[in-house]
Amino acid sequence: MSFQKTASSFLLVEIVKGFALTFSYMFRPKVTINYPFEKGPLSPRFRGEHALRRYPNGEERCIACKLCEAICPAQAITIEAEPRDDGSRRTTRYDIDMTKCIYCGLCQEACPVDAIVEGPNFEFATETREELYYNKAKLLANGDQWEAQLAANLEADAPYR
Ligand code: SF4
Ligand code: SF4
Repeated sequence: MSFQKTASSFLLVEIVKGFALTFSYMFRPKVTINYPFEKGPLSPRFRGEHALRRYPNGEERCIACKLCEAICPAQAITIEAEPRDDGSRRTTRYDIDMTKCIYCGLCQEACPVDAIVEGPNFEFATETREELYYNKAKLLANGDQWEAQLAANLEADAPYR
């Protein structure tokens, strides 16, 4: 046994095995990607940055029912609302403290009109906390920017909801 160990050490068997394993991987498909130039696939259910959506005519979807605010376990959402002149109910304030958010997706699940959604964007790191206090304008701008992808994701997931 000790002779085997000595011979194995002397012939560098473990190192040769290691190199052989490394060499064998040179001819296999790569499992890494060159992020950020390459990106992996994302599920339609991916819960990324929040967005407030509009109807195709530009009207806000949100009807200020506050279900998302009530269900949010992190109490990250703050909504204020009042009726408009035409009697419709809309938010005057819609804030999300993204530093509190745990990306559970419950706000999206609770929304009866698919207004608040979590989109595919995961590249929204900031240098200050203040930049992560999202207001209504920021959330609507996100919705405008990502609408095509958001609508496609909701449609793809619709049969399972
Ligand atoms: S994803 Fe969850 S924690 Fe974040 S705002 Fe929505 S309900 Fe709150
Ligand atoms: S985003 Fe949806 S759940 Fe939240 S207040 Fe607006 S309509 Fe209600």
